[in-house]
Parts: sequence; structure tokens; C-alpha cells
Amino acid sequence: MENGIKLYVVVPCYNEEAVLPETSKRMLALFDEMKKGSLISAGSRIVFVDDGSKDKTWDIINSLAKQHTEIAGIKLAHNAGHQNALYGGLMTVKDECDCAISIDADLQDDINVIPQMVKHFTEGYDVVYGVRNKRDTDTFFKRTTAVAFYKLMHLMGVNIIFNHADYRLMSKRALGALAEFPERNMFLRGMVPLVGYRSTSVYYDRNERFAGESKYPLKKMLSFAFDGITSFSISPIRMISALGAVVCIISVIMAVYALVEKLLGNTGAGWASLMMSIWFIGGVQLLSVGLIGEYIGKLYKEVKRRPRYIIEAYVNEENGNDV
Ligand code: UDP
Ligand code: MG
Repeated sequence: MENGIKLYVVVPCYNEEAVLPETSKRMLALFDEMKKGSLISAGSRIVFVDDGSKDKTWDIINSLAKQHTEIAGIKLAHNAGHQNALYGGLMTVKDECDCAISIDADLQDDINVIPQMVKHFTEGYDVVYGVRNKRDTDTFFKRTTAVAFYKLMHLMGVNIIFNHADYRLMSKRALGALAEFPERNMFLRGMVPLVGYRSTSVYYDRNERFAGESKYPLKKMLSFAFDGITSFSISPIRMISALGAVVCIISVIMAVYALVEKLLGNTGAGWASLMMSIWFIGGVQLLSVGLIGEYIGKLYKEVKRRPRYIIEAYVNEENGNDV
């Protein structure tokens, strides 16, 4: 790498006409600076991915790409959603670059830590997570729901980085490993830690979106969270089994209670047998659903065909060199 790292910055854009001119201006300035410092090479690019926008986003990307060789664009045929647009962009550039950074179009994430991310890459890190220091600029609602979300994910056994969204650097080989995950339900911030290469974090303060509106209304946020959990965890299924076991235990207690009541003569005709059956059948049904769920959970894992392992390095292979 004579002239610095070949860096690709991938920016998903959905109806972002209000922010693109400013975003591209600031990013180009940063690119100039990094090129002057020989941190990144002349072949580095900013790639805007138009996620089926309905406004002038694509026209703007087009004219930006004509004016600046550093800027390139990809247009998706329809609105595939943030995660898919991001993944599509990363997969398109993965063979061209040394490393790629993903970042939102609205500059809420501080682009000034990009040089730091690239430096960590040169030190041998394959993944550099951008982590928010504080969330002052987010609304109270967004802050609390976000914290609840991270807590819940951990509870469900999903390994995600706290306060990290999709602002991160990935090396070419980390992107290659990510490409081995053929699943359709993309929850990138859960998938990247599964890649497992050496990683580190950089910290920054999150700004407010400087123009335009959030493309993540509550409905989308909830479905995103639900997607994250159901794509990574079969804990909800296990909860059904656990509930079934609890109800079965209650059914034994209820059976004893019903029998005692019957023997004491406190019951009407049929009450004891009804009481026992309702609890028992309820418990058996829940347990059965949980059992079927276990198999569905297994099927789900198989269907995703995730890689069983990812190789980090070889030593003493053929030419005796580490690769
Ligand atoms: N985005 C996208 N497709 C969508 C929704 C959003 O590509 O269907 C992009 C959007 O243009 C932005 C990023 O995803 O670059 C994050 O969206 P936003 O800033 O609105 O989310 P928030 O920061 O409010 O969570
Ligand atoms: Mg945003």
C-alpha cells in the first residue's frame, strides 16, 4: 500500500435530497485532507446507495458523480430498506477496496472519526465500531427505547455492541466473511460481531439530523427490533416451553386442590374433573407447542446456512507465510 489505504465509504440514502449536497461537501473535504496526509489512496471513493428514493436523491447523486471522481452511486430498483441497502452497497464494493465504512446520509454520526477508524485498520483491526458517547441530542423517547432495546437483546443472548448503530469500518476480509452469511433478514449489527475478527471501537458524539426527517418512524423501529430478536434468538420459543412446564406444575397443584375440595364436599358436580383437565390440557398444549418450536428453531438455523467457522489466519501453510 504505497499511497495509503483504498477506502470506500458507503452511504445508504432514502429520500435524502435535503442532506446530500452538504453531506457530500463535508465528506469530500475530509477525503481531501486524508489524501493529503497519505492516509487514504487516490482511488478511494464515496459510494451513495439510492434505496429507491421518490425524491431527487438519484439526480443529485448523478450530478455529484459527474463533478467529482471520488463520488460513485448505486441505485436500487425499489426501496429495499436501510439494512439491505447498506449490505448491497458493501457487497458491491467489497472486492474493490481495502476497507469500507458504512455511515448514514444525515451526518448524525461524526465523520471526523473516520481518520481514526482508518488508523485502527492500519494497526491491524478488521472491524472498527463507531460508538456514541452520549445521546443528548436524541429525544427522551428514542433514548429510553434504545437502551431497552440493547438490554433486551442481551437478555435474549444476542451479542451487539452497546450504542453502536451501523457506523463502522470493515476490512476487505471481514466483508468477505460477512458475505458468507446468506440470510435474508439482515440485522447487520448482530451479524458483524459474529464475524469475529479483531475489533475495536472509536467514540463520538451523535449530532442531530441537520436536515430532512428521520426515515425510522416508531413502526419501523419496532419492526427492526423485532427482526433483530427473531433473527438471532430462539429464546421466545424457549419461553413457551418454560411456560408450559410452569402450567404443568400448577396443574398438579390444582389437581390436589380440586380433589381435596371434592372430598370435603365443597364442589358441584363435574367441577373437579373440569378443573383438572383445563390445567392439565393447557400445560400439555403449551409444552407441545414449545417442543415443535424447538424443531422450528433448529430448522430456522439450518435454513440460514450461516458459516460454521471463519478462518482468521494460517501459519506454515505451503510457503510458510502468514496470510
Ligand atoms: N435509509 C435507507 N432506506 C430506508 C430508510 C432509511 O436507506 O428505507 C437510510 C437513510 O437515508 C439514512 C439511514 O438509512 O441514511 C438512517 O436513517 P435515519 O437517519 O432516518 O434513521 P435515524 O437516524 O432516525 O434512526
Ligand atoms: Mg439518522
